Amino acid sequence: MAVLEKLTSQQAIDLENKYGAHNYHPLPVVLSKGEGVYVWDVEGKKYYDFLSAYSAVNQGHCNPKIVGAMVNQAQTLTLTSRAFYNDKLGEYEKFATEYFGFDKLLPMNTGAEAVETALKVCRKWAYEKKGISENDAQIIVCENNFHGRTTTIISFSNDPVARKNFGPYTQGFIKIEYDNLEALQHALENNKNVAGFMVEPIQGEAGVYVPSEDYLSKAKALCEKHNVLFIADEVQTGIARTGRLLATCGNCSCTDKNCSGTPDVKPDILILGKALSGGAYPVSAVLANDDIMNVITPGSHGSTFGGNPVAAAVAIAALEVVRDEKLAENAYELGELFRSEMNKYIANSKIVNLVRGKGLLNAIVINDSEESETAWNICVALKENGLLAKPTHGNIIRFAPPLVMTKEQLMECVEIITKTLKEFEK
Ligand SMILES: *Cc1c(COP(=O)(O)O)cnc(C)c1O
Repeated sequence: MAVLEKLTSQQAIDLENKYGAHNYHPLPVVLSKGEGVYVWDVEGKKYYDFLSAYSAVNQGHCNPKIVGAMVNQAQTLTLTSRAFYNDKLGEYEKFATEYFGFDKLLPMNTGAEAVETALKVCRKWAYEKKGISENDAQIIVCENNFHGRTTTIISFSNDPVARKNFGPYTQGFIKIEYDNLEALQHALENNKNVAGFMVEPIQGEAGVYVPSEDYLSKAKALCEKHNVLFIADEVQTGIARTGRLLATCGNCSCTDKNCSGTPDVKPDILILGKALSGGAYPVSAVLANDDIMNVITPGSHGSTFGGNPVAAAVAIAALEVVRDEKLAENAYELGELFRSEMNKYIANSKIVNLVRGKGLLNAIVINDSEESETAWNICVALKENGLLAKPTHGNIIRFAPPLVMTKEQLMECVEIITKTLKEFEK
């Protein structure tokens, strides 16, 4: 069989199983095309995408503006490395720092790299600015976090599968309960060497856990009091997903959702990835003001691909789409509609306990144990009915469609979801 022949779904699955490492357990669907809120499998069946590549494709599949910018730049200059300047990086850094309201940006490629970068910046700041003695810095993180897959990041994960047999682990992290201000206060007061507190504004992979209304602003205030950097991992929540440009925008009252003004909770270090490229290309970034970012000096950190001209052009286009197409506003409105429609269903449901989320980052909790396969089976049935979603745990299903969805499309999706859930009632 020539590899270039058009494959059936089963052939494509068999190839991955035989020749690829088994580090994922995908839903049995093989996609070959995407446009906006839709994807198609190799047999031509059309689906609503309710995962959006873990919120990377907020701007919709193959967004023409983003693809256009990418193709154009790819035909002009793709990579110089940072050994030389390129004419796109500075333009992108100016655009993105003004867009998010920070002095400086450090470009990386994947979310995990950006998290690693933020941790390194935080530690260096602790030694050079805060005056912690070398190798003593501690960074507070939350239980059930998800920040990526590198050796350091899994060192402070408490997912046994992500950790087991990958030790020895990186030192210097204190784990506290999420959404628990007393735990944070206690950790800050009992450790004089705390450099930073890294947190997801909503815990996505853990199952879309939305913290209490004032959690982030009070956590930030506690950090300020103790001269500790507040590090927001907005790789999944950022770029309009939760109905605001950033989830840390908190109660910011500006009408312009492109909120580079004075948000309630302004992180000291902001980590972005995923939708920073609209899913077209791996682009991530760390943003901070000069007093923090200036600890980074030539040679102290880098990446061959970080800040390449294609990434820069793609990220500018991706952020322009978010602003011009008012995706934060759309995510906000559709999110309210989605949860209210789901709540109508849940009122008479035995199989679904609740829906939670913000904007278009939502999850339903299935009335079954974490170890059950019910959520998986529901996702397989949803697939049959033309909608793709994935469990985050045995009993939690995340619903996160592209933010370019219309109200009519969302209502059609609610139909598909409730019809499918009904098959599981009884
Ligand atoms: C996806 C994710 C990451 C890791 O991003 P990768 O690009 O997969 O390395 C980090 N933090 C959060 C909150 C994420 O959702």
